[in-house]
Amino acid sequence: MKRFALLLLLPLLAQAQAQQGETAPELSVDEVRFTVANSEFTLMHEMGHLLISELQLPVLGREEDAADQLGFMGLFLLQQEQHRDDFYAKLMDVADYWRLEWQHAERDGSPVPVWDSHALDAQRFYNIACLAYGSDPDRLDWVLEVSGLPVERALYCPEEYEQAAHAVQWFREHFGRSDERPARHRIQVIYDTPPGHLPGGAELLEKIRASGELEAVAAKASDAFALPRDLTLRMSTCGAPDAWFNRISGELTLCYERIAYFRTLARELPKLRGGESPTPR
Ligand SMILES: [Zn+2]
Repeated sequence: MKRFALLLLLPLLAQAQAQQGETAPELSVDEVRFTVANSEFTLMHEMGHLLISELQLPVLGREEDAADQLGFMGLFLLQQEQHRDDFYAKLMDVADYWRLEWQHAERDGSPVPVWDSHALDAQRFYNIACLAYGSDPDRLDWVLEVSGLPVERALYCPEEYEQAAHAVQWFREHFGRSDERPARHRIQVIYDTPPGHLPGGAELLEKIRASGELEAVAAKASDAFALPRDLTLRMSTCGAPDAWFNRISGELTLCYERIAYFRTLARELPKLRGGESPTPR
Protein backbone atom coordinates (compact mmCIF):
# COMPACT_ATOMS: atom_id res chain seq x y z
CA MET A 1 0.00 0.00 0.00
CA LYS A 2 1.17 3.46 -0.87
CA ARG A 3 2.47 5.48 2.05
CA PHE A 4 1.30 9.02 2.33
CA ALA A 5 3.52 11.95 3.04
CA LEU A 6 0.87 13.85 4.96
CA LEU A 7 2.93 14.44 8.04
CA LEU A 8 5.66 15.91 5.89
CA LEU A 9 3.45 18.74 4.81
CA LEU A 10 2.83 19.89 8.34
CA PRO A 11 6.37 20.77 9.45
CA LEU A 12 7.16 22.01 5.97
CA LEU A 13 4.29 24.47 6.06
CA ALA A 14 5.35 25.59 9.51
CA GLN A 15 8.87 26.10 8.25
CA ALA A 16 7.64 28.02 5.24
CA GLN A 17 5.74 30.35 7.53
CA ALA A 18 8.69 30.82 9.81
CA GLN A 19 10.83 31.94 6.89
CA GLN A 20 8.42 34.57 5.71
CA GLY A 21 9.19 36.97 8.51
CA GLU A 22 7.04 40.06 8.72
CA THR A 23 4.83 39.51 5.69
CA ALA A 24 3.22 36.39 7.16
CA PRO A 25 3.82 35.90 10.86
CA GLU A 26 4.60 32.39 12.03
CA LEU A 27 1.61 30.12 12.47
CA SER A 28 1.12 28.14 15.64
CA VAL A 29 1.02 24.34 15.54
CA ASP A 30 -2.80 24.50 15.76
CA GLU A 31 -3.00 26.96 12.88
CA VAL A 32 -0.77 24.84 10.66
CA ARG A 33 -2.81 21.74 11.47
CA PHE A 34 -6.06 23.61 10.67
CA THR A 35 -4.65 24.72 7.31
CA VAL A 36 -3.40 21.25 6.37
CA ALA A 37 -6.56 19.47 7.61
CA ASN A 38 -8.88 21.71 5.63
CA SER A 39 -6.72 21.58 2.50
CA GLU A 40 -6.83 17.79 2.71
CA PHE A 41 -10.57 17.76 3.29
CA THR A 42 -11.12 20.07 0.31
CA LEU A 43 -9.03 17.76 -1.86
CA MET A 44 -10.87 14.66 -0.62
CA HIS A 45 -14.31 16.29 -1.07
CA GLU A 46 -13.44 17.10 -4.70
CA MET A 47 -12.02 13.60 -5.17
CA GLY A 48 -15.46 12.46 -4.00
CA HIS A 49 -17.06 14.43 -6.85
CA LEU A 50 -14.47 12.98 -9.24
CA LEU A 51 -15.24 9.39 -8.24
CA ILE A 52 -19.01 9.94 -8.29
CA SER A 53 -18.78 11.35 -11.79
CA GLU A 54 -16.13 9.13 -13.35
CA LEU A 55 -17.32 5.83 -11.85
CA GLN A 56 -20.96 6.85 -12.11
CA LEU A 57 -21.49 5.95 -8.48
CA PRO A 58 -25.16 5.79 -7.53
CA VAL A 59 -26.01 8.70 -5.24
CA LEU A 60 -29.07 8.99 -3.06
CA GLY A 61 -29.64 12.40 -1.53
CA ARG A 62 -27.61 15.44 -2.43
CA GLU A 63 -24.30 14.95 -4.17
CA GLU A 64 -22.70 17.65 -2.02
CA ASP A 65 -23.59 15.70 1.12
CA ALA A 66 -22.20 12.53 -0.45
CA ALA A 67 -18.99 14.38 -1.37
CA ASP A 68 -18.64 15.59 2.23
CA GLN A 69 -19.07 12.04 3.50
CA LEU A 70 -16.59 10.69 0.95
CA GLY A 71 -14.20 13.50 1.89
CA PHE A 72 -14.57 12.71 5.56
CA MET A 73 -14.02 8.98 5.06
CA GLY A 74 -11.10 9.81 2.77
CA LEU A 75 -9.37 11.49 5.71
CA PHE A 76 -9.59 8.18 7.57
CA LEU A 77 -7.96 6.41 4.62
CA LEU A 78 -5.14 8.94 4.70
CA GLN A 79 -4.53 8.87 8.43
CA GLN A 80 -2.54 5.64 8.77
CA GLU A 81 0.69 7.13 10.04
CA GLN A 82 -0.77 9.77 12.24
CA HIS A 83 -1.09 9.97 15.96
CA ARG A 84 -4.67 9.27 16.94
CA ASP A 85 -5.43 12.26 19.14
CA ASP A 86 -3.93 14.59 16.60
CA PHE A 87 -6.08 12.99 13.93
CA TYR A 88 -9.30 13.71 15.83
CA ALA A 89 -8.13 17.26 16.40
CA LYS A 90 -7.80 17.49 12.60
CA LEU A 91 -11.37 16.30 12.15
CA MET A 92 -12.50 19.04 14.51
CA ASP A 93 -10.45 21.52 12.47
CA VAL A 94 -12.54 20.54 9.46
CA ALA A 95 -15.78 20.93 11.45
CA ASP A 96 -14.62 24.26 12.88
CA TYR A 97 -13.92 25.63 9.42
CA TRP A 98 -17.68 25.46 8.80
CA ARG A 99 -18.38 26.95 12.21
CA LEU A 100 -16.17 29.93 11.34
CA GLU A 101 -17.95 30.42 8.01
CA TRP A 102 -21.28 30.20 9.82
CA GLN A 103 -20.22 32.82 12.37
CA HIS A 104 -18.90 35.15 9.68
CA ALA A 105 -22.16 35.04 7.77
CA GLU A 106 -24.15 35.72 10.94
CA ARG A 107 -21.88 38.60 11.92
CA ASP A 108 -22.07 40.14 8.44
CA GLY A 109 -25.82 39.60 8.24
CA SER A 110 -25.37 37.69 4.97
CA PRO A 111 -28.55 36.04 3.69
CA VAL A 112 -28.65 32.31 4.37
CA PRO A 113 -28.42 30.52 0.99
CA VAL A 114 -31.21 28.06 1.64
CA TRP A 115 -31.44 27.44 -2.14
CA ASP A 116 -27.87 26.18 -2.38
CA SER A 117 -26.90 22.65 -3.40
CA HIS A 118 -24.62 22.48 -0.34
CA ALA A 119 -25.91 22.02 3.17
CA LEU A 120 -25.78 25.26 5.18
CA ASP A 121 -22.43 26.00 6.82
CA ALA A 122 -23.93 25.40 10.26
CA GLN A 123 -25.23 22.02 9.11
CA ARG A 124 -21.89 21.05 7.61
CA PHE A 125 -20.28 21.91 10.96
CA TYR A 126 -22.66 19.63 12.86
CA ASN A 127 -22.53 16.92 10.18
CA ILE A 128 -18.74 16.65 10.38
CA ALA A 129 -18.75 16.84 14.19
CA CYS A 130 -21.38 14.09 14.25
CA LEU A 131 -19.38 11.79 11.94
CA ALA A 132 -16.23 12.42 13.98
CA TYR A 133 -17.97 11.62 17.27
CA GLY A 134 -19.78 8.64 15.73
CA SER A 135 -16.51 7.10 14.57
CA ASP A 136 -15.53 6.25 18.17
CA PRO A 137 -18.18 7.44 20.64
CA ASP A 138 -16.63 5.69 23.64
CA ARG A 139 -13.48 7.76 23.38
CA LEU A 140 -14.81 10.96 21.90
CA ASP A 141 -17.14 12.44 24.50
CA TRP A 142 -15.02 15.57 24.34
CA VAL A 143 -16.17 16.13 20.76
CA LEU A 144 -19.71 16.72 22.05
CA GLU A 145 -18.36 19.20 24.55
CA VAL A 146 -16.23 21.25 22.14
CA SER A 147 -18.78 21.20 19.32
CA GLY A 148 -21.93 21.67 21.39
CA LEU A 149 -23.57 18.89 19.37
CA PRO A 150 -26.90 18.24 21.15
CA VAL A 151 -27.55 14.77 22.53
CA GLU A 152 -30.65 14.47 20.33
CA ARG A 153 -28.37 14.27 17.29
CA ALA A 154 -25.39 12.65 19.02
CA LEU A 155 -27.44 9.54 19.82
CA TYR A 156 -27.58 8.68 16.12
CA CYS A 157 -24.05 9.67 15.15
CA PRO A 158 -22.58 6.17 15.50
CA GLU A 159 -25.23 4.98 13.02
CA GLU A 160 -24.48 7.86 10.68
CA TYR A 161 -20.80 7.00 10.75
CA GLU A 162 -21.46 3.28 10.20
CA GLN A 163 -23.69 4.07 7.25
CA ALA A 164 -21.02 6.25 5.62
CA ALA A 165 -18.29 3.66 6.33
CA HIS A 166 -20.48 0.90 4.91
CA ALA A 167 -21.19 2.88 1.74
CA VAL A 168 -17.48 3.54 1.18
CA GLN A 169 -16.65 -0.11 1.83
CA TRP A 170 -19.36 -1.17 -0.61
CA PHE A 171 -18.22 1.08 -3.40
CA ARG A 172 -14.58 0.06 -2.94
CA GLU A 173 -15.64 -3.57 -3.30
CA HIS A 174 -17.80 -2.90 -6.35
CA PHE A 175 -15.72 -0.32 -8.16
CA GLY A 176 -12.22 -1.18 -6.97
CA ARG A 177 -9.52 -2.55 -9.28
CA SER A 178 -8.26 -6.02 -8.48
CA ASP A 179 -6.03 -6.10 -11.56
CA GLU A 180 -2.33 -6.41 -10.71
CA ARG A 181 -1.31 -4.77 -13.98
CA PRO A 182 -0.72 -1.00 -14.09
CA ALA A 183 -3.91 1.01 -14.39
CA ARG A 184 -4.83 2.02 -17.93
CA HIS A 185 -5.85 5.53 -16.96
CA ARG A 186 -4.31 7.72 -14.31
CA ILE A 187 -4.68 11.09 -12.62
CA GLN A 188 -1.76 13.36 -13.39
CA VAL A 189 -0.79 16.26 -11.13
CA ILE A 190 0.00 19.70 -12.57
CA TYR A 191 1.22 22.76 -10.68
CA ASP A 192 0.51 26.16 -12.17
CA THR A 193 2.53 29.14 -10.97
CA PRO A 194 0.98 30.60 -7.79
CA PRO A 195 -0.22 34.23 -7.90
CA GLY A 196 2.47 36.82 -7.29
CA HIS A 197 0.34 38.70 -4.75
CA LEU A 198 -0.05 35.65 -2.51
CA PRO A 199 2.32 36.03 0.48
CA GLY A 200 4.79 33.15 0.37
CA GLY A 201 3.03 31.74 -2.71
CA ALA A 202 6.17 30.44 -4.40
CA GLU A 203 7.26 28.78 -1.19
CA LEU A 204 3.79 27.31 -0.70
CA LEU A 205 4.06 25.69 -4.14
CA GLU A 206 7.51 24.35 -3.32
CA LYS A 207 6.37 22.84 -0.04
CA ILE A 208 3.19 21.30 -1.43
CA ARG A 209 5.21 19.78 -4.23
CA ALA A 210 7.89 18.55 -1.84
CA SER A 211 5.29 16.87 0.39
CA GLY A 212 4.30 14.63 -2.53
CA GLU A 213 0.78 14.54 -1.08
CA LEU A 214 -1.14 15.40 -4.25
CA GLU A 215 0.83 12.80 -6.22
CA ALA A 216 0.16 10.22 -3.50
CA VAL A 217 -3.60 10.86 -3.52
CA ALA A 218 -3.69 10.81 -7.34
CA ALA A 219 -1.69 7.57 -7.49
CA LYS A 220 -3.80 5.92 -4.81
CA ALA A 221 -7.06 6.73 -6.64
CA SER A 222 -5.58 5.69 -10.01
CA ASP A 223 -4.43 2.34 -8.62
CA ALA A 224 -7.59 1.69 -6.60
CA PHE A 225 -10.24 2.37 -9.28
CA ALA A 226 -10.58 1.58 -12.98
CA LEU A 227 -10.91 5.16 -14.19
CA PRO A 228 -12.55 5.48 -17.62
CA ARG A 229 -10.13 8.14 -18.91
CA ASP A 230 -7.03 10.10 -17.95
CA LEU A 231 -7.75 12.86 -15.45
CA THR A 232 -5.92 15.88 -14.06
CA LEU A 233 -5.42 17.26 -10.57
CA ARG A 234 -4.29 20.87 -10.90
CA MET A 235 -3.00 23.35 -8.31
CA SER A 236 -3.94 26.66 -9.81
CA THR A 237 -4.54 30.36 -9.40
CA CYS A 238 -8.28 31.00 -9.57
CA GLY A 239 -8.89 34.53 -8.27
CA ALA A 240 -11.02 33.08 -5.47
CA PRO A 241 -10.50 30.61 -2.59
CA ASP A 242 -12.14 27.79 -4.46
CA ALA A 243 -11.88 24.16 -5.58
CA TRP A 244 -13.96 22.14 -8.03
CA PHE A 245 -14.13 19.14 -10.32
CA ASN A 246 -15.00 19.84 -13.95
CA ARG A 247 -16.77 16.73 -15.21
CA ILE A 248 -16.45 17.73 -18.85
CA SER A 249 -12.70 18.30 -18.91
CA GLY A 250 -12.05 15.72 -16.16
CA GLU A 251 -9.95 18.23 -14.26
CA LEU A 252 -9.93 18.73 -10.49
CA THR A 253 -8.74 22.22 -9.57
CA LEU A 254 -7.48 23.17 -6.13
CA CYS A 255 -6.75 26.89 -5.82
CA TYR A 256 -3.70 28.33 -4.06
CA GLU A 257 -6.03 31.00 -2.75
CA ARG A 258 -8.05 28.37 -0.89
CA ILE A 259 -5.04 27.18 1.07
CA ALA A 260 -4.06 30.79 1.76
CA TYR A 261 -7.63 31.45 2.93
CA PHE A 262 -7.45 28.57 5.43
CA ARG A 263 -4.16 30.01 6.66
CA THR A 264 -5.87 33.36 7.28
CA LEU A 265 -8.95 31.85 8.93
CA ALA A 266 -6.74 29.80 11.21
CA ARG A 267 -5.88 33.01 13.05
CA GLU A 268 -9.43 33.13 14.40
CA LEU A 269 -9.21 29.72 16.03
CA PRO A 270 -8.12 30.90 19.51
CA LYS A 271 -11.14 33.21 19.65
CA LEU A 272 -13.46 30.46 18.43
CA ARG A 273 -12.18 27.96 20.93
CA GLY A 274 -11.70 30.25 23.88
CA GLY A 275 -7.94 29.69 23.78
CA GLU A 276 -8.25 25.93 24.03
CA SER A 277 -7.02 23.34 21.57
CA PRO A 278 -9.61 20.76 20.45
CA THR A 279 -7.84 17.87 22.05
CA PRO A 280 -9.14 15.05 24.19
CA ARG A 281 -9.39 15.54 27.89
ZN1 LIG B 1 -18.73 19.90 -3.70
